[in-house]
Amino acid sequence: MLDHILKKAEDTGDLNLDEIEQLLRLEEQKDLDKLFASSYRVKTQYVGRTAWFRGIVEFSNICIKDCYYCGIRRSNSKTKRFIIPENDIIESAVWAWKAEYGSVVLQSGERDDPEFVDMVERIIREIKKRTNSELGLTLSLGEQSEETYRRWFDAGAHRYLLRIETSNKDLYVRLHPADHSFDHRVACLQLLRETGYQVGTGVMIGLPMQTHRNLAEDLLFFKTLDIDMIGMGPYIFHSDTPLASFRTEWELPPKKLLNLGLKMIALARLLMRDINIAATTALQALEHNGREQGLLAGANVIMPNATDTQYRESYQLYENKPCTDENASMCRGCLQRRVEQIGEKIGFGQWGDSPHFAARQDNKVVTAK
Ligand code: SAM
Ligand code: SF4
Repeated sequence: MLDHILKKAEDTGDLNLDEIEQLLRLEEQKDLDKLFASSYRVKTQYVGRTAWFRGIVEFSNICIKDCYYCGIRRSNSKTKRFIIPENDIIESAVWAWKAEYGSVVLQSGERDDPEFVDMVERIIREIKKRTNSELGLTLSLGEQSEETYRRWFDAGAHRYLLRIETSNKDLYVRLHPADHSFDHRVACLQLLRETGYQVGTGVMIGLPMQTHRNLAEDLLFFKTLDIDMIGMGPYIFHSDTPLASFRTEWELPPKKLLNLGLKMIALARLLMRDINIAATTALQALEHNGREQGLLAGANVIMPNATDTQYRESYQLYENKPCTDENASMCRGCLQRRVEQIGEKIGFGQWGDSPHFAARQDNKVVTAK
């Protein structure tokens, strides 16, 4: 039965909800090995065995939102708030460019005040100038107005990562205060696409109250949205958040949670063959080689931390976040070794857009003719 479903996935790139759920429930190591071998074949064929680096600069933990799972939520008074000075953010990006990262992600808590919007626009323009427009720029700055998305795009950002967190509206409502809207987040994903960004989304895996069915639906949600990139990862509890009260009942053992994350990556690869999929840092929080396991399950993007070490302690979305005390160049060296050890190479100095995005651009040209 497993062989049959995997063959169907490899041949067609399509599975129904029941089949996806069945694969998500696999527990035996020999079955998991089959699943990962299958998704790795698809990865090799459609996106190759190059891991793209995105240096991530987590430049502020000031946030106007209050998501129940997040360690830097507005109401967590234990978090020491920071914003990295503009020039230092730019320097981190320039450092990543010189280290041939090809591309960086600017991420922070959500703010929509004019001062913040202007600052981000200035930073984007300056990074573009200082790097001869060679450095790719992804933003992960939450929900914004159409005008803001447009201004940042016009300034030079070309990718945007906005996780839907869960595609199940009822679960979304349970994970957020009443003024956080699922529909608005979906509308933002649409706006981002219309503005011209390559759009990435994702979910947290292993959330309290989340079922295998929900995760299967998440994968079909990404497919329906025709997404270009996925950045999803395990949910990890943070004691100073409201969701911590669910810990005893819902926390999965690390190995089980890691495997669930890897299964989600593998299924995403089988269902959306030519998109970019990140092996997120949260995988590494669960096992020291979690990110390499992510690559072997089908991911093709790694996001080394390029944030100045003095600020990393305060960007604790979850407990035991890895690499908080390594400096950025150590992260580069250790990751390069790790990636090469599994027989892959790093796509230094290139943006590494997903073939999926490239194909859509080509189609646009064809239709325009
Ligand atoms: N504020 C922006 C937003 O929410 O889109 C970007 C920064 S936010 C810290 C980035 C991601 O962190 C969120 O989309 C969420 O999925 C993830 N995150 C927050 N708390 C987490 C936790 N406890 N475990 C794992 N991931 C978490
Ligand atoms: Fe803020 Fe993002 Fe954390 Fe939500 S997930 S509290 S928006 S930083």
